[in-house]
Amino acid sequence: MSTNSLSKRELERYDRQIRIPEIGVEGQSKLKKSRVLIVGVGGLGGVVATYLALGGVGYIRLVDDGLLELSNLNRQIPYSERDLGRIKVEAAAERLRSLNSDIMVEPVSTKITPANVDELIRDVDVVVDGLDNFETRLLINDRCVKLKKPFIHGAVHSFEGRLMTIIPGEGPCLRCLVPEPPPLQDVTPIIGPVPGVIGSLEALETIKLLTDVGTLLIGKILIFNGIDLEFTLISIAKSPSCPTCSRDL
Ligand SMILES: [Zn+2]
Repeated sequence: MSTNSLSKRELERYDRQIRIPEIGVEGQSKLKKSRVLIVGVGGLGGVVATYLALGGVGYIRLVDDGLLELSNLNRQIPYSERDLGRIKVEAAAERLRSLNSDIMVEPVSTKITPANVDELIRDVDVVVDGLDNFETRLLINDRCVKLKKPFIHGAVHSFEGRLMTIIPGEGPCLRCLVPEPPPLQDVTPIIGPVPGVIGSLEALETIKLLTDVGTLLIGKILIFNGIDLEFTLISIAKSPSCPTCSRDL
């Protein structure tokens, strides 16, 4: 038996998704050997991390430099009141391990900087955006393009959310759409179900990418308008002047 084969317990745990013909045992084995980096473990990243852990992604690295605050608890599902004041990635890792002890979770409590970003990205299959600022998103985007790592971008604000899947060499990158970070807001207003929707879709894109199933959101951005309940798809072209990805046009 190969090292990627599934145990009896795993076959039972993932039975409902293995029954989906597009996934099957083969797809589940791919998830088991996959390595995912989730940057930011708040409203978005907490949902992504929860679904990827439940779904059996074998190795999940969580990066965030925050401590849990009371105002996080209107939307950040991995945490409870008991975790207030704790290092978020440690509390989240504990929660994910309690949901699924068959996977590996690596908490990294650090701020992402140009000095450490490559080391965090280099050994994973995909990077998922749970961030709250475009400065770090664009740093991650640039390094993902350079290192040819897929980057699932999600962002939320108030009742609105966005989703875009970036596959280096196959479509536009985040900088094609957002050349420079917009001014940072001190506090982002947000209602919990919006990161719930976008985080779930990011997890779904990640699972599809890792199992090589379906059509990814490449060259398009999905805008979710929660207040009127509308989903809009907008095509995005690669920018010929994008300093990050134009060279491989
Ligand atoms: Zn670009």
